[in-house]
Amino acid sequence: MKYLSEYRDPELVHQFAEELHRITTKPWTIMEICGGQTHSLVKNGILEMLPKEITMVHGPGCPVCVTPIGIIDEAILLSEMTNVILCSFGDMLRVPGNKKSLLEAKAEGADVRILYSPLEAVTLAQQNPDKEVVFFAVGFETTAPANALSVVHAAKMNVHNYSILASHVLVPPAMEAILGDPENKIDAFLAAGHVCSIMGMEEYYPVAEKYQTPIVVTGFEPVDLLQGVLMAVHQLEKGMFEVENQYVRAVQREGNLIAQETIHEVFDIADRSWRGIGQIPNSGYELNDEYKRFNARIKFDLGETAVDGTNECISGEIMKGLKKPFQCPHFGKKCNPEHPLGAPMVSSEGACAAYYHYQGVEEEELTEAV
Ligand code: SF4
Repeated sequence: MKYLSEYRDPELVHQFAEELHRITTKPWTIMEICGGQTHSLVKNGILEMLPKEITMVHGPGCPVCVTPIGIIDEAILLSEMTNVILCSFGDMLRVPGNKKSLLEAKAEGADVRILYSPLEAVTLAQQNPDKEVVFFAVGFETTAPANALSVVHAAKMNVHNYSILASHVLVPPAMEAILGDPENKIDAFLAAGHVCSIMGMEEYYPVAEKYQTPIVVTGFEPVDLLQGVLMAVHQLEKGMFEVENQYVRAVQREGNLIAQETIHEVFDIADRSWRGIGQIPNSGYELNDEYKRFNARIKFDLGETAVDGTNECISGEIMKGLKKPFQCPHFGKKCNPEHPLGAPMVSSEGACAAYYHYQGVEEEELTEAV
């Protein structure tokens, strides 16, 4: 398949791996931002192909994982209102809130529906004029254009019974929060290719310069990832800190201007709380004044977002690259995909789920982790 099979070419993968072994002389810690990249690295055995000097750590780029417990509680609260249909992407349903998950609320009778697009939620609102339809708009810059478009569409169609519960987060402020952490040990980043296909690369130049850290915009297939790591290590070995683009087939420096325009029509940049990490200034989107009538938080008078309760999950340390999933004392024991304690074990982009599904739970690791 064009644009796919050539990026899974074993010969090319081995060439890049050999080149990496040849040029790597020092220990380097590289963070892949996106949970999709984490899954590809673990699933395709790429971690085992890297030189022993290179440590890959897994970043905060799993939208489900970083959605605060307080916002999940808000979604549950909305779903339990008699007149509300709460719509969400499937991954969000099993993520635990402070007391229960959306799936448990659904089992108790709440009208919770899984949709594949926010535009479907607008149609649902048109079909159910006596109900309020709320879309749980979670995600990074990648899902923001579709969510923004749903609001523009609802406004144009005079659909007054549609709103969104927005929990949008942005990648560059999270990278800065990680790099500014006193415990930071990241030498280079693989930036998420799909985010950059929307937003472009401009925001990354000041970050690379300020923290003297190479950033390589990278795709998701084995060849992409090995080439991305190779480009990062080339820079690190030469003491460079530039922004490079490995994912040239999808990313242009300026990004998708039409998608950005749609985002900026509907959203303002706002402070945002990240699950396990805390508040990061200017790290999210919130509906602007012109579209605030579509803001479920205002429409249903939800007030301040509840703070996260105590939780045994150490997802924050994992998403900041300070620990690996198997270093969590609950990994594979008290926490597993059937009974997740935290979102990284639930989501298809979660690092804990990737290790659990593709690397298994080795006795040695569990002993080490306890
Ligand atoms: S193994 Fe479970 S409890 Fe531990 S960090 Fe991962 S999701 Fe959280």
